[in-house]
Amino acid sequence: MSFTRREFLATSAAAAAAAAITRPAFAGAFWQAQAAQPVFTPIRRNVGFFTMRGGTIGFLVNPGAVVAVDSQFPAEATAFLTGLKERSNGRGVDFLINTHHHGDHSGGNISFRGSAKKVVAHAKADEHMRTPPGANPPADQLFPDTTFTDNWSADVGDEKVRARHYGRAHTSGDAVITFERANVAHMGDLCFNQRHPVVDRAAGATLRGWMTVLDRTVKDHSSDTIYVFGHANAGLPVTGNAADLNGFTTYLGAVLAFVDAQVKAGKSRDEVMAMRDPLKGFEAYGRFGPMGPREILTCAYEEVTTGQ
Ligand SMILES: [Zn+2]
Repeated sequence: MSFTRREFLATSAAAAAAAAITRPAFAGAFWQAQAAQPVFTPIRRNVGFFTMRGGTIGFLVNPGAVVAVDSQFPAEATAFLTGLKERSNGRGVDFLINTHHHGDHSGGNISFRGSAKKVVAHAKADEHMRTPPGANPPADQLFPDTTFTDNWSADVGDEKVRARHYGRAHTSGDAVITFERANVAHMGDLCFNQRHPVVDRAAGATLRGWMTVLDRTVKDHSSDTIYVFGHANAGLPVTGNAADLNGFTTYLGAVLAFVDAQVKAGKSRDEVMAMRDPLKGFEAYGRFGPMGPREILTCAYEEVTTGQ
């Protein structure tokens, strides 16, 4: 599916409208235009996902515990908590876990004040939430009180939840959140389902690292694991399997190879950054950018030309 001019304009208009009502800390944050309807979708064994606007929220509600993974934006988080309370007989949230610091995944943390007992994130994600690279710090926020560098896990009723950092990828503070018995893994923004990802170079992104992280993630899970993606292209699901992760790894490699060929052909940085045509073989991802410094071509160009 190509990114038509109409879709592009619709996305831009929605983004502009949303930017106008969000705090400066989130200006420049990326999210897709979505129908602003709160929708809870079960996956299996008391784990499900919530969509409204921003990165997909994961949740667990069982007789012994309530867990949320990511928080979208404040208004969406409030709608999420209202629906969650109906499903949990009014119980509070034992753990709110952030997959990374971006505003469309953590901006709603503030709405969990008073209802989340613990807020968990990777140490770098915590650092970036407090001082976002390239953006103003949030005026008010519910920051993590529990951080980790490699692994964190907790028993949550009859389930076990684990957060694992596999290395630098979309940022330097990404974590995969796995509900082990349900065998469901929330990827945050480590997987965009067939659309060009946001690549936060200022916060430590690396495409080569990202490919390694996805390989490690697949090896560390099973063939039956259901993965939850932060975002998906229009009409595509926000859940999938290992084949989707492997496909995204292949795409990242193809972007690097494409940019490498452009550089070898003598193209300048500006010429590479201005490329908009869909990547050959990955037309479903649509046209590139424009996303400025968070454009994948920016990161690919820097990696190809500096080797880092
Ligand atoms: Zn992100």
